[in-house]
Amino acid sequence: SMAEQSYKYVILGGGVSAGYAAREFAKQGVKPGELAIISKEAVAPYERPALSKAYLFPEGTARLPGFHVCVGSGGERLLPEWYTENGVSLILSTEIVKADLASKTLTSASGVTFKYQILIIATGSTVLNLKDFGVPGADSKNILYLREIDDADKLVEAIKAKTGGKAVVVGGGYIGLELSAALKINNVDVTMVYPEPWCMPRLFTIGIASFYEGYYANKGINIIKGTVAAGFESNEKGEVKEVKLKDGRVLEADIVIVGVGARPLTALFKGQVEEDKGGIKTDAFFKTSIPDVYAVGDVATFPMKIYNDVRRVEHVDHARKSAEQAVKAIFAGESVGVYEYLPFFYSRAFDLSWQFYGDNVGDDVIFGDNNPTSATHKFGSFWIKDGKVVGVFLEGGTPEENKAIGKVAKVQPPVSNLEQLAKEGLDFALKI
Ligand code: FAD
Repeated sequence: SMAEQSYKYVILGGGVSAGYAAREFAKQGVKPGELAIISKEAVAPYERPALSKAYLFPEGTARLPGFHVCVGSGGERLLPEWYTENGVSLILSTEIVKADLASKTLTSASGVTFKYQILIIATGSTVLNLKDFGVPGADSKNILYLREIDDADKLVEAIKAKTGGKAVVVGGGYIGLELSAALKINNVDVTMVYPEPWCMPRLFTIGIASFYEGYYANKGINIIKGTVAAGFESNEKGEVKEVKLKDGRVLEADIVIVGVGARPLTALFKGQVEEDKGGIKTDAFFKTSIPDVYAVGDVATFPMKIYNDVRRVEHVDHARKSAEQAVKAIFAGESVGVYEYLPFFYSRAFDLSWQFYGDNVGDDVIFGDNNPTSATHKFGSFWIKDGKVVGVFLEGGTPEENKAIGKVAKVQPPVSNLEQLAKEGLDFALKI
């Protein structure tokens, strides 16, 4: 009956990991009817990073079906028809509200039961919401967040409605930086607010951040650091009008965009599976502590072999690769070899584009031209630990140069003289 469905394999979540897992299932010869993807989103898996980039651009706008997986990594585009043609049940607009790993059942909000033999948890993350921190007025209209395509559509609508108006962007991470740029390109006046002494402090050094902050200032973006949004005022229609900062300042706002972080969606499995570092603990094949249950993407805390550590990673490259690793292991077991992951993060805004490979620990040296007003703005940073280069950041790299910095982070070449390294800069990377 429709109230109970049964599959050999179920992927819970329909995001990046789910899409790449589906492609791998097809490669491995999954049979029609064996695989289901259950997603609360209304659309087939897509490349989520597009939502904070081309989805919001006034020109060269990205829209589905343009950015379904796997185009983000140069692969085949899995249109909704692909799932039908491959006998994969794509169960959309369906939220799972209960998971029982003991009886191998998932239950949807509308009461449908899904049975599985093997489950892949790919629920990703959700945004931290200022309402949950009790910030007064945080439920005003036009205070927006971005995770899923529905959120992006609300943003597009708000940008259209408030062109020429004022936006306050709360948060100085990826989302804050990419959305500030997108708003500015759409002719919205932007003020960014964040508590840290510089933007993206989890990755950027002060030398890296000073370039981006200078560049954004030159684009007319106002940056307020060292304080937070402590409350919001709205008009009689309930629309946000003012942002009250903790330091007492008040900013006018027609739109507020909040990007203050995310948390992995693991609540359905609390107490049923081992957790670690806020995620679901897995081995190097993305198997959890429960037989026949895998976890991939943002929710997985996995052994990161290169650093002899266990970590959780909220980046698209890992979402793709962990999904492929899990599906390969489902078919071939441990013969596929352990997950060999080198951290890779990137971002794009305005005409800027950076890539980072490796680990940002130890000493750091900056190289190249990080003057925000210069024409070249090609610069980067090395991180050095125990006499070896372990991480590299590069703004404005060519594909060849980006490849070279990835190789450095992987090979970890020894260095003794940091001044010399700073002077050599990109040349050091290009000769590895
Ligand atoms: P997701 O892609 O988030 O997919 C999770 C899916 O599970 C969603 O479809 C969700 O609706 C569904 N789901 C969750 N709970 C349930 C439930 N109970 N029932 C049914 N369905 C459920 N990374 C980079 O490296 N570079 C970037 O430039 C970059 N840009 C980004 C921009 C934005 C706007 C966002 C939000 C993220 C960005 N990321 C970027 C991060 C990257 O997109 C994520 O790491 C990646 O999407 C994680 O994949 P995932 O499959 O684990 O989760």
